[in-house]
Amino acid sequence: MLEQKKIKFCKKCLYSSEHALGITFDDQGICSGCKIHDEKNSLDWKHRLEKIKKIVKPYKSKSRKNYDCIVPVTGANDSYYIVHLVKNVLGLNPLLVNYNKYFNTPLGISNLANLRIQFDSDIIFKNVNMKSIKNITKFGLLEYQNIYWHILAGHTVFPLEAAINYKVPLIIWGAHQGMEQVGMFSHEHEVEMSRRYRHDHDLFGVEADQLVKLENDLKEEDIFQYRYPDDASINSIGVRGIYLGNYFRWDPTAQHKMMVKNYGYKSAKLTRTFDTYDHIDCYNYMNIHDHLKLSKCGYSKITDHVCREIRHNRINRENGKNLIKFYEQKNVENLKLFSEWLDIDINSLNFILNRSKNSKFWMEKDINKFTFKGISTKFKNSNNEIYKDNLDKEFICTNKIELKQSNRSYVLFGKGVE
Ligand SMILES: [Zn+2]
Repeated sequence: MLEQKKIKFCKKCLYSSEHALGITFDDQGICSGCKIHDEKNSLDWKHRLEKIKKIVKPYKSKSRKNYDCIVPVTGANDSYYIVHLVKNVLGLNPLLVNYNKYFNTPLGISNLANLRIQFDSDIIFKNVNMKSIKNITKFGLLEYQNIYWHILAGHTVFPLEAAINYKVPLIIWGAHQGMEQVGMFSHEHEVEMSRRYRHDHDLFGVEADQLVKLENDLKEEDIFQYRYPDDASINSIGVRGIYLGNYFRWDPTAQHKMMVKNYGYKSAKLTRTFDTYDHIDCYNYMNIHDHLKLSKCGYSKITDHVCREIRHNRINRENGKNLIKFYEQKNVENLKLFSEWLDIDINSLNFILNRSKNSKFWMEKDINKFTFKGISTKFKNSNNEIYKDNLDKEFICTNKIELKQSNRSYVLFGKGVE
């Protein structure tokens, strides 16, 4: 048997050599994500603001008969801040586009409705039919232990489709995840949206066409909506997608705090993280999806949140270790809701979830009894004491009961009325 490669940890944050997006370390043992993060403290952000103003200028519609840009939005995930920058700082008139993920919380729908009111913007929604979405989700769960494929694929294709249909070539995104987490690129590379990153990382290498197989019910009519447009269509309009994180010092926590105060963004406490802003629009992201990440990768979203906060100097590394341990094994909620929606029984769902456990990170003690031996079990010197005082100040919770209702159900379509 091959001996397992020893897990290496960054000396500054708590990411390890096992990061799913790939990570490198310098001679001092600092990870590529921390190195690129440090650029935030040395770049001339005034100069970068001038740069992006120049980039977007040619896209401003002089006749005012069309939109200046397309902005993909959700009921969470930096959407308010992105629209704030696009409208109030860059002076653009955006068309907001939302791909309906179907696992919507009332809070997410309310945030989305308030977003269009606060920023006085037009918005279009893409609602792919429920039957196709359920079939794709079921297959994704069984084949790839992933329930988010349709959301990631839809969220990345729909803006392009809108850009082509409305002949609005500029798409504006927030921060680039690969850059923020693992420093895949420097801010100065000014990386733009690409078919390749979407394929390799967002869709974990699975394109729409690969979903159609003999052994499942998926057909062309289920998947064509998720196919990336061809180069000829993209080039005929000259579509490009830029990331604001290359031009503005990105700090999601500070940004969200500002959005709560200035625009009434609503936040809520989640069970598996201290972050009250991210992913509060979805019943599943911080539950079954997060649990699958822990099962397969040996770490979960709390590690991402902790590393981000360490880099912004809001928590220290020791407390970070304890926070990860505290949150990552917390209960997974809304499983029954998901199993009923997908029409599979809860025992079958639990069976699938257990089957997704990577033997590298889990030891099967008995039938369906597992011991976790993932990344956080390799932390040295952690004392399990957690300090949340500072976090409670940073992570405001505006809605104490919203996600705690016992009669939860997905809000399938947002009517846009509060
Ligand atoms: Zn690091």
